[in-house]
Amino acid sequence: MQVAIIGTGYVGLTTGVCLAFIGHQVCCLDTDEAKIRALKAGKIPIYEPNLSELLEEASPNLRFTSSYAEAIPSAEIIFIAVGTPPTPSGAPNLEYLSQAARSIGQHGAAGFKVVVNKSTVPIGSGNWVGSLLREACEGREAGTSPEFAVASNPEFLREGSALHDSLYPDRIVIGADETRALEVLYSLYRPILDQTFSAPTYLPRPDTVYAVPLVSTDLASAELIKYAANAFLALKISFINEMGLLAERVGANITEVARGIGLDSRIGPRFLSAGIGWGGSCFGKDTAALIATASEYGLNLPIVEAARKLNSRQRDRVVEKLLHELKILKGRTIGLLGLAFKPNTDDLRESPAVEIAQKLVDRGVRVRAHDPIAVERFHREHAGMPVQTCENVCETAEGCDALVLVTEWSEYRDLDWEAIAKKMRTPVILDGRHFLDRDKLARAGMRYLAIS
Ligand code: NAD
Repeated sequence: MQVAIIGTGYVGLTTGVCLAFIGHQVCCLDTDEAKIRALKAGKIPIYEPNLSELLEEASPNLRFTSSYAEAIPSAEIIFIAVGTPPTPSGAPNLEYLSQAARSIGQHGAAGFKVVVNKSTVPIGSGNWVGSLLREACEGREAGTSPEFAVASNPEFLREGSALHDSLYPDRIVIGADETRALEVLYSLYRPILDQTFSAPTYLPRPDTVYAVPLVSTDLASAELIKYAANAFLALKISFINEMGLLAERVGANITEVARGIGLDSRIGPRFLSAGIGWGGSCFGKDTAALIATASEYGLNLPIVEAARKLNSRQRDRVVEKLLHELKILKGRTIGLLGLAFKPNTDDLRESPAVEIAQKLVDRGVRVRAHDPIAVERFHREHAGMPVQTCENVCETAEGCDALVLVTEWSEYRDLDWEAIAKKMRTPVILDGRHFLDRDKLARAGMRYLAIS
């Protein structure tokens, strides 16, 4: 099938590469010309494991462009995967979405086309995009206008395992009020739904995946499914963090508590790691958007609101713990391990490390930091922030009064902690993710603290 993807970021690029890999003809479009130039030259503008290998395999079916006139006329299916960043009110900024819809409308050739909202967009956006598409076609000569149907196909990928999640998803959700649109998307996704494609050697099909459930529903339900899923995951994290606070007071071990409840199949073990809390471009933005949507209908969402409040409190707890341990923060040197919002990505949007660094800088702390992947992006996106980045953890530890593990990169687990402790002014480590081996650190002479 002929597919166009509008927006070639974390979601658009992953979707484009995966659809090209399973045999569709895909044209990825982005208005960021530098990004398109880089992609045409074979350079990937984001860090995502295995993306370069899959892109190379898919390249015969894949094109990149900045021109709507090139991408849209021949496309049968057009995915909108542009950013929907938050505004101060919590409602997402839909400017990029409306620009994309208008440009699609202006360049669509006659024939039936399905326009798919893959961006996370508020409930009602499907109808709105439909009206923008029709508006953009007004005034055209009879018989030259495309016939658009709008569908919602929310994305559930996790950065860091985006390709795995796209090829072997837990489910595919398609919302449309027109049966024809559902049928087109069903055909598009059939190789993934039936798992009939040959798995790449570096992304083997898990033994448990032989067919992927399809949830086909109306537009509004598909739109709400995405927000409800993210809100639920966010509150699962905040729930365990709330229990962590109590566990600390009563002398319980929150990791054991999480294991004890997570083994209950009704609860499940994932998203039950106590610590600094969630970050990234989705949970904060999507919970805020859900609250904003509810308020348009005169509703409050107290559970979602509480989850947000608790998450923000976890960042303050890092500063409180350091203050309690070191007594005075002004003039201290603190090293952060990890800048990316989670391991295996270079994404820094709403990264806890950046928030914590700012809080420490505001208190007069000299901040040093290490990240295996995200340092270059950090300097690009936070150029004015007085944080000294280092080549490795040993260098970061030099003269530090404490280290804080913020992002649980696997390589932080097995470090020469004795050597690191010797470099520090006071060998204190605050484990923000319950990730490190407390006994090993104690043997290396480190004082171990955790955020529970
Ligand atoms: P991103 O910022 O990485 O990419 C968005 C891209 O859209 C950018 O490259 C930008 O240049 C491009 N763009 C903006 N306006 C455009 C236009 N008019 N025409 C063409 N291109 C345009 O964003 P992302 O992380 O890929 O997220 C995209 C959407 O997917 C968001 O709504 C997000 O909430 C949702 N989502 C993201 C994730 C994730 O993990 N990143 C997961 C699920 C859903």
